[in-house]
Amino acid sequence: MDKTVAIIGGGPAGLMAAEVISTQGHSVKVVYDSMPSLGRKFLMAGKSGLNITHSEPFEQFASRYGKRRAQIEPMLKTFGPDELRDWVYGLGIETFVGTSGRVFPVGMKASPLLRAWLQRLNDSGVTFHPRHRWVGWLPDKSLHFESPSGDLAVKADAVVLALGGGSWSRLGSDGAWAPWLTQVGAQIEPLRPSNCGFDVAWSPYFREQFEGHPIKSVILSFGSFHQQGEFIVTKEGVEGSLIYAASALLRDEIDARGKAVMMLDLAPDRSHEWLVERLSRSRGSRSLASHLEKTVNIKGVKAGLLHEFVPKEDFSHLQPLAHFIKNLPVPLIATRPLDEAISSAGGVRFESLDEHLMLRSIPGVFCAGEMLDWEAPTGGYLITACMASGYGAGHSALRWLGVP
Ligand SMILES: Cc1cc2nc3c(=O)[nH]c(=O)nc-3n(C[C@H](O)[C@H](O)[C@H](O)COP(=O)(O)OP(=O)(O)OC[C@H]3O[C@@H](n4cnc5c(N)ncnc54)[C@H](O)[C@@H]3O)c2cc1C
Repeated sequence: MDKTVAIIGGGPAGLMAAEVISTQGHSVKVVYDSMPSLGRKFLMAGKSGLNITHSEPFEQFASRYGKRRAQIEPMLKTFGPDELRDWVYGLGIETFVGTSGRVFPVGMKASPLLRAWLQRLNDSGVTFHPRHRWVGWLPDKSLHFESPSGDLAVKADAVVLALGGGSWSRLGSDGAWAPWLTQVGAQIEPLRPSNCGFDVAWSPYFREQFEGHPIKSVILSFGSFHQQGEFIVTKEGVEGSLIYAASALLRDEIDARGKAVMMLDLAPDRSHEWLVERLSRSRGSRSLASHLEKTVNIKGVKAGLLHEFVPKEDFSHLQPLAHFIKNLPVPLIATRPLDEAISSAGGVRFESLDEHLMLRSIPGVFCAGEMLDWEAPTGGYLITACMASGYGAGHSALRWLGVP
């Protein structure tokens, strides 16, 4: 007899689970999503160049999942970066490795990929029910949906929940599922911003002058984190790739101590001695700003940063000024809200799941994707783990149904 599998959430994790289920066995596969169309966050990820995975060695790749490496690595061994690239190729799209080792589909967009994927899923018998918002379980354990035709109760032999995290809620994943899962005995680590920006108490002058300006090639140091890159000045503070890379550590420090002070090296290619030697050259009638620019090429937003954070009395002394160019403390006073973050930390704790991603408290219900309690930096690690867990949850659902 046909079995019914309900996959709730049509992002990369849910669609991958649907694909696995659709290619094996005879079952009714239905993907439900609260939004009018599927994969909205995936499409958004493609707006700035869909970084689908990373080409670095597996060992290094697996280390990106930090505290959750032990849980994520086995899934990556089954469906990891190489399998993901083959899978993209199977949809008729080539991938390429960018200069940083990041992997993108040719064209860098998500839309051709998603279109081909949904078509293939449709052809293999997957049914899509958009505008169906899952709102928990009814007392008889059926799935409760709100839909344009009213409330629905759905019975399924297996369920894959792939509801996403809590960022960019306008794209569908709003984290509202947390209490419904708690009610049925799952442990949920509160969702927190990951790959996020931070607030800085800019002076009105700095904000007005430099909002939107990139700060290029600086080294950001914070605790064990030490990396060269760039970021952007925002109205409220800072955001961008270098900030995101340090964001888990900075966020945890702010949570623990109320603020975090990141150190910036504004002249990463120059030594302290070089700066002192250049700055000590005769200034003549030049202003200090012009002297900084002429001698050590510190100008614009970098000069602005010095003015923001170097104590006035140190500004006219060469040694301290050179020191601050190499070690500028920038206090971050708050983490930007979850809704603005690229991804979420927190989610369904692995202790609540068995090794097949099945909720221990509700047999037959599997979880996948960003709604699980892990986080990773940007670089393709997010989508890869979402797909890997969707792949794992799909296979586990089949095993649960006894489908060979
Ligand atoms: C701007 C931006 C850029 C990004 N760029 C990249 C990138 O380049 N590389 C990368 O690896 N990652 C990137 N990410 C992160 C990546 O897109 C996500 O990690 C990934 O989409 C998560 O997949 P998911 O399937 O777990 O959840 P989602 O993609 O969030 O999908 C969850 C789905 O569940 C649905 N849903 C939620 N609640 C319910 C409910 N109650 N009932 C029914 N349906 C529901 C939602 O509508 C949604 O369609 C980016 C994210 C953002 C915001």
